[in-house]
Amino acid sequence: MNYKRYFPPSYLEERLKNFNSSVKRTVLGRSVNGLPVYQLQIGNGVQNILMWSQMHGNETTTTIALLDFISWLLKTEQSKYLKFFSFFIIPQLNPDGSKLYTRQNFNGVDLNRDAIDLSQPESIILRNAYEKILPQYAINLHGQRTIYGSGAEGPPATISFLSPSADSKKSITTSRTKAMIAISSIRNELEKQLPGGISRYDDQFNPNCVGDYFTKCGTPTILFEAGHYINDYFRIKVRFFILEAYKILFKNLMLESNIGSVKSYFSIPQNTKNYVDLIVSNTTIKDDKHLYKNQQLAIQYIEKLKNQEIIFLPSLVTYGKNLKLKGHNFLDYTDIKKDNYIIFKKDAVVNTEPFNKLFSLNSFI
Ligand SMILES: [Zn+2]
Repeated sequence: MNYKRYFPPSYLEERLKNFNSSVKRTVLGRSVNGLPVYQLQIGNGVQNILMWSQMHGNETTTTIALLDFISWLLKTEQSKYLKFFSFFIIPQLNPDGSKLYTRQNFNGVDLNRDAIDLSQPESIILRNAYEKILPQYAINLHGQRTIYGSGAEGPPATISFLSPSADSKKSITTSRTKAMIAISSIRNELEKQLPGGISRYDDQFNPNCVGDYFTKCGTPTILFEAGHYINDYFRIKVRFFILEAYKILFKNLMLESNIGSVKSYFSIPQNTKNYVDLIVSNTTIKDDKHLYKNQQLAIQYIEKLKNQEIIFLPSLVTYGKNLKLKGHNFLDYTDIKKDNYIIFKKDAVVNTEPFNKLFSLNSFI
């Protein structure tokens, strides 16, 4: 099924029905609003792998690809993986946020800033699972907005990785080294299918982040961010690339492949905040006082849940004669309607005719 970004607990329940008894399902605990947090256990190898997804409820692509990955693992030809690894998978750590399509949990807390406080039941569930499993690798699965480029000059960041820091000096510890080698091995292989589209996330140490905490405890931790691919707003292609990345990662861990290195990790371009969804040229902008002619206008889509679907609302970012931003799409306003001007208010959603129609995502994908 082609999911369109929304992936609530009810969809997860449906997908779980398709797995046979070789996937052992347990309820690790309940979310703030009483929904079950599932763990799926598969394989009986000596290498324990902990993977968790949707700790941010609106980051669904890595979850969907994770379920694709389990279906792939269950094929007889992949049985070698199940002899080598024991996978402990929490596909939706934040079911309340997943239902509401919010980053935060039901109490409005960002679970990825709660690693030390453990103020939320979902944070405690993850910590307990970690301490029980003592994984050889921890795989921390996320999704990111369309605002990131792969380096200053590169294409959109379709997948970003991070080996989180273990301390404020960003020391290259043994566990970080292992994560860096694993990440660069994925990149070196996947780069062929996704030229330039793989980047490396900022490794500023934040002790409240779960990945940083696990790395500090000595577990190699790999953070995935599913990002943007040209006009793939529903992330159908990105889902495929993430699945490929999972397959490459575990193939290389199993073979103890040496195709990655710390040096090659640092050669991955850094994630750069330099994209907007749409750049409209030759607009007339009105602010509180003046009219500005021949301006470039930057538009970013805001995702909103409406009637069980995600809609993309055009919002105003900035304007100028020559914006230093890259666009996923472009529109020349010159020939459309000369006498109209756009009233600029930062972050406001454009909801007046004809702009709402012109700037709508449907015009571009
Ligand atoms: Zn996230």
